[in-house]
Amino acid sequence: MDLAQTQRIIKNTLQDLQKDELFITQLQGENREKTFASVEEILTTTDKIIKSYIRVSKDDGRIVRIPAYRIQHNNIAGFYKGGIRFNESVNEEEVENLAVLMTLKNALHDLPFGGAKGGVVVNPNDYSDRELNFISKKYVQRFAPDLGPTHDIPAPDMGTNEKIMDWMVGEYKTIHPGQNYLGAFTGKSVDNGGAKGRREATGKGTFFSYFWLLHEWIGKQKSLHFNEVDKVHKTQYEKLKSLYKKHVDEEEITIAIQGFGNVGSVAALEAYASKELKHRVVAVSDHNVTLYNPNGINIPGLITYQNKNGHLPESKGELENIGVYADIKGRGDILTLDVEVLILAAAERQITDKNMRAIKAELLVEGANAPIDAAADQYLNEKGKIIIPDILANAGGVMVSYLEWKQDRITQFFTNEETLREMSMQMTQSCEKVFNDYFERKLEGIRYTCYLHATKKLFTLLYKQGKLF
Ligand code: NAD
Repeated sequence: MDLAQTQRIIKNTLQDLQKDELFITQLQGENREKTFASVEEILTTTDKIIKSYIRVSKDDGRIVRIPAYRIQHNNIAGFYKGGIRFNESVNEEEVENLAVLMTLKNALHDLPFGGAKGGVVVNPNDYSDRELNFISKKYVQRFAPDLGPTHDIPAPDMGTNEKIMDWMVGEYKTIHPGQNYLGAFTGKSVDNGGAKGRREATGKGTFFSYFWLLHEWIGKQKSLHFNEVDKVHKTQYEKLKSLYKKHVDEEEITIAIQGFGNVGSVAALEAYASKELKHRVVAVSDHNVTLYNPNGINIPGLITYQNKNGHLPESKGELENIGVYADIKGRGDILTLDVEVLILAAAERQITDKNMRAIKAELLVEGANAPIDAAADQYLNEKGKIIIPDILANAGGVMVSYLEWKQDRITQFFTNEETLREMSMQMTQSCEKVFNDYFERKLEGIRYTCYLHATKKLFTLLYKQGKLF
């Protein structure tokens, strides 16, 4: 989904909410029309866009200027919150779209945060540690007046990690002596006030959303009734039932994971190690290669390699050295493999009208933000494929970030078990409301159902906080 497509779904949900007579009954007639138009205006525009060029001194003595963004979409639900990504394809429209998705995600999961996002146009692999440290500190210096634990709280995203969050919080502390600094950034190392389990939270949450749908929801669901017009819902329901039957028959479900970074490698390990729902991880990929073995891949071996080298092995020799057996394919090949489940945990716009017809997986999970564009989303839905959308599937990270922000304010730290328990509970609640609503009310799509819950919450807050006069 790009920005225009995200905004279009917001508009559609508002049009349907307007027709829902039970929603804010006090608003009637012309007043109702005007109020809905106001909410549409507010949610489809962005509070603040800040662009800056960071001056970086390179190791070879050159000075380069790198574009950087912080975009704050909306804070009606709480302080702005959203990751910072370091990637060479970062651009204003992408960051703005991601900021809107954060607003919706936090609202969907009832987290007390608004939505923001940051980005730096840089490939972190091309920079030394000293240069990255410099970029991180400069980012905080530039955006400091707009950041803070009670204003806007960044976290890691693509290309950034706990080391960068530690550097950033360190710089924030220098700029604001004597102030609460720990809660200014989340996703920090545990030594530095980070939440235990934060690093794994997005990958675990992504896998959990799928696991819950199949194991807890379909597994315990009595049969649902479908009318003639509910063809897509019926097909999806039957596909989920037949996937669940594989589990009952003790057969392995085949799964592929695109992206082997923070989100993808953890989701792959969850699938590999899951005892309650048996999987065969037949393929993983990164920005260079797809590794494929129909008999299953040794994920722990690849994680050890990835932790050391920062990427997947790229040659047969490297694979043999670590005792992993797989064919090496092109990076895009993972998307069209013959698997039952595909977790997308790499980047935006991976499935588009160019490759959507070749997708064989029946269930797709968006660990990444916006990996499926609008045309492909519509096509795959019409085919009865099940897509667990980004704002539902990848919220584990921000859920645990919320716990980190809370613990940093009172300096009493949660245990790993507490963090994961809380995340699973919140994920369960969100999945339950979305899937119940989608299948029982036969709503337009799972993504649409998520957006509907989010806009309903944001509308209610805007109304109750008196922002619609
Ligand atoms: P990361 O930088 O740790 O890993 C990204 C992985 O994707 C790497 O393995 C990289 O090689 C691979 N990749 C990049 N471009 C690719 C391409 N075109 N084809 C195949 N592989 C490609 O990033 P991450 O933190 O794991 O984030 C991945 C996605 O998840 C992003 O969309 C991000 O916005 C989203 N996300 C991350 C978090 C988080 O907590 N890290 C939270 C929510 C959403």
